[in-house]
Amino acid sequence: MLLIGNGLLITREPARPVWLAGCVAVQENKIVEVGSTEELQGKYPDASFVDAQGRLIMPGLINTHMHCYSSFARGMDLKSQSPHEFNEILTRLWWRLDKTLTMDDVYFSAAVAMIDCIKNGTTTIFDHHASPNCVPGSLFRMAEAAQELGLRTCLCYEVSDRDGDEVAQQGIDENVDYISKCKRDHDAMRCGLFGLHASFTLNDALLRRSADIASMLGVGCHIHTAEALSDVEDCQSKYGKRVVERLKDFGVLRPATIAAHCVHVNEREIEMLREKAPFVVHNPESNMGNAVGCAPVLEMVRRGIRVGMGTDGYTSDMFESLKVANLLHKHQQQDAAAAWAEPHDMLFEQNADFASTAFGETLGRLVPGALADIIVVDYNPPTPLTAANLNGHVLFGMTGRSVATTIINGRVVMQERKILVADEQEVFGRARELAEKMWKRF
Ligand SMILES: [Zn+2]
Repeated sequence: MLLIGNGLLITREPARPVWLAGCVAVQENKIVEVGSTEELQGKYPDASFVDAQGRLIMPGLINTHMHCYSSFARGMDLKSQSPHEFNEILTRLWWRLDKTLTMDDVYFSAAVAMIDCIKNGTTTIFDHHASPNCVPGSLFRMAEAAQELGLRTCLCYEVSDRDGDEVAQQGIDENVDYISKCKRDHDAMRCGLFGLHASFTLNDALLRRSADIASMLGVGCHIHTAEALSDVEDCQSKYGKRVVERLKDFGVLRPATIAAHCVHVNEREIEMLREKAPFVVHNPESNMGNAVGCAPVLEMVRRGIRVGMGTDGYTSDMFESLKVANLLHKHQQQDAAAAWAEPHDMLFEQNADFASTAFGETLGRLVPGALADIIVVDYNPPTPLTAANLNGHVLFGMTGRSVATTIINGRVVMQERKILVADEQEVFGRARELAEKMWKRF
């Protein structure tokens, strides 16, 4: 038994969103009780105690669109002119980088990204992986890193036709092998989706085959959807339809599917998204950084579409993404009243609901029966913090680096900023060595 207490407990649950001197009781990997510290310490006197020392106790954060393989791009010299638009970003950076990855690179780029997630209070990620020159076994290598570090992961391999039939088939096989293993293992620490790159790198035959296999396996897909205008133009010129319509026609858009981005969707496509109900994931920083536009996610939310939040590998800090989402839509709409509520709903409610369905267990909530993913956040409110003004404190007062302690599945993986599950210096040192070698091959 583990108690995390003596803190301002933020559950966001309607019945009692905030507890002063609150406490969470954890038995093995699940939360068994939420109450006052005094009461739970009295009831469980022999339990280990994580003392929040008056700081905040919150649910662990969830990132529903991530690319761990992008870790080694940090600080890399592209050795060519800076890309101006999305296709140049892919051809000059990501599609060159992913081809240079070896299996060790896959492991260590994942490990440093996962440690970064833990340090930013993210306890579950939905990753979208590519390493065309070492596909078979790549998800299993990432899963090893996740298991050692104790991070909850949903992995997939992005199938595409950009590297020919053989690599495409390897991508399909890797998804099938990994998903099958997850289904056999029934381990709440991991699951899989069927990864697809994007409409413009999936010919009809490949998309048909992949969508059918995903359906047969009973899992959703994880696909970049109308991220850039060029994806739409490609789809219209090759298939005479827009991206969302094409994905709908192939049966890809289902409630278990992640449709990442959805930047360039028109009114008709928004209606299709509402009807087919895939989980749309908003990645505000990536969209701004890649200069692809602003996804009409506020309109989607108004229409009842489920929209969550991811980072697309741009950062591991969900607090940062929350902040950027708040600013992006104000700026885009020239309306200072816009986007006060929606980003919080995406991060805390929608991501938790989608992850709970994907993993088959309650996630992202501090309630009895939920998996014990809990963070302690070093934030001392300079003004009164109440259930009514909580979002303002989260938005303006917290960053990922405020996270002091991270608990995943009942295991303390970081305590007072120290990673307990690995030698952080050693992992980062090894990653730097591998990154330097990879840069030379790039
Ligand atoms: Zn992405």
